[in-house]
Amino acid sequence: MKRSRSLKIVATLGPASSSLKMIRRMFNAGVDVFRLNMSHGDHDTVRKLHSHIRTVEEEAGRPIGILVDLQGPKLRCGSFANSQETLLDGQQFRIDLDPADGDSTRVHVPHKEIFQVLEPGLQLLVNDGKIRLRVIQCGSDFADCEVVEGGEISSHKGINLPDAIIPLAALSEKDTADLEFACELGVDWLALSFVQQSQDVEIARFLTRGRVAIMTKIEKPAAVARFSEILEVSDGIMIARGDLGVELPIHTVPPIQKRLVRRCRTTAKPVIVATQMLESMIETSTPTRAEVSDVAAAIYEGADAVMLSAESAVGRYPVESVATMDNVAISAESDPTYREIMDASRGSKLVTVADAIAAAAREIAETTDVKAICCFTHTGTTAQLAAREKPRVPIVVLTPFKKISRRLSLQWGAHCVTTQAVLSFDEAVKIATSVACSQKFGSMGDQIIITAGVPFNVSGSTNIVQVAKIGVS
Ligand code: PGA
Ligand code: MN
Repeated sequence: MKRSRSLKIVATLGPASSSLKMIRRMFNAGVDVFRLNMSHGDHDTVRKLHSHIRTVEEEAGRPIGILVDLQGPKLRCGSFANSQETLLDGQQFRIDLDPADGDSTRVHVPHKEIFQVLEPGLQLLVNDGKIRLRVIQCGSDFADCEVVEGGEISSHKGINLPDAIIPLAALSEKDTADLEFACELGVDWLALSFVQQSQDVEIARFLTRGRVAIMTKIEKPAAVARFSEILEVSDGIMIARGDLGVELPIHTVPPIQKRLVRRCRTTAKPVIVATQMLESMIETSTPTRAEVSDVAAAIYEGADAVMLSAESAVGRYPVESVATMDNVAISAESDPTYREIMDASRGSKLVTVADAIAAAAREIAETTDVKAICCFTHTGTTAQLAAREKPRVPIVVLTPFKKISRRLSLQWGAHCVTTQAVLSFDEAVKIATSVACSQKFGSMGDQIIITAGVPFNVSGSTNIVQVAKIGVS
């Protein structure tokens, strides 16, 4: 089975979408990668979802990516005696290390690391930024704050500290346990939340020992500021607009999104635009015009994938949300203006032979009647380079490794097929033409482009581009 678009769709699973039947329907509607959120699911639930996804994958004969999202060092306040309090503008409010239940004047914040970096004037945001506090004076175990913007505060609400780099471990104990669990289960991508610096990514990479690809979520101003070094050590990026829009003024998020998507394209690493893309579809079966525009904007920017969070995890219309993204992508990608933008925004430096082969394949596809670009790859890099070119024709990725096929399910345009190991270029031509034919990219007499590396089975050796005819050897 193949999709009629190059954009990839990521959907988060949750109570609204955890049955085998629902996962199958969502896949049929267009999901390429399923996201399992460790902030909510326990190990047994995740194990079950994983098995459902692999069942659907087997039935469909198409690789499906599984992304496990670690909770990360998210800060939360303690509990309140009355479970909820209202903070008024201008009042004073204390946060401290006293584990006693909170009231309208104070609450426990069980993270001593926060108090090491607080200083008068710093901002604290509570409950998705709805409440704003400003530190007036503080010590090693307390901070007295002024309530700049009041509101409802209740037990265990999230706290954001946008102006400070907090000396917190990149992975909590729970994250480390979840990471090992996900690696053993055999998932394809691991997303890291609240990354502040490249070392945070390196710690996770050390622990994962190559078993999964690492996706860094950009949701802290510190990560935006250090994006270059973070991108270098990550396998993929998620623009996590939810927390990003709390930690930074909300109007600064669109330019950051545009800049980061472009930067990812230069390195050929996949980038997901995430959060609130079709928010109103949690409750209603049709999206707003603005939401449809938001999904389309990410596509025109050149994102590899768009993501559903609450829409598919807890919403009333998970399948319809996926179908909406699918329709928006088909419509945008067939627009001549989309083509013009993709062609005009290429601008990556071509330094290696593999870069040049990928660019040559795309150029041939522009001027010659070919039905697909078929790339043989071991590590997936050749497929990433082909995808970065954003060619007009489908990219058929041929690899002996299921793991690579699944990982690439996130990459723009990649249609992955797991094949036997190829030993000679003649054999590569035979396999590519027969796959292109059987998967209905072309028929007898049609031409395809093949890229490969000789000698075979050596990573990073792509050095051949050839046009071949289906059915003629
Ligand atoms: P979350 O990450 O859903 O895990 O919070 C996404 C975001 O913050 O946008
Ligand atoms: Mn987040």
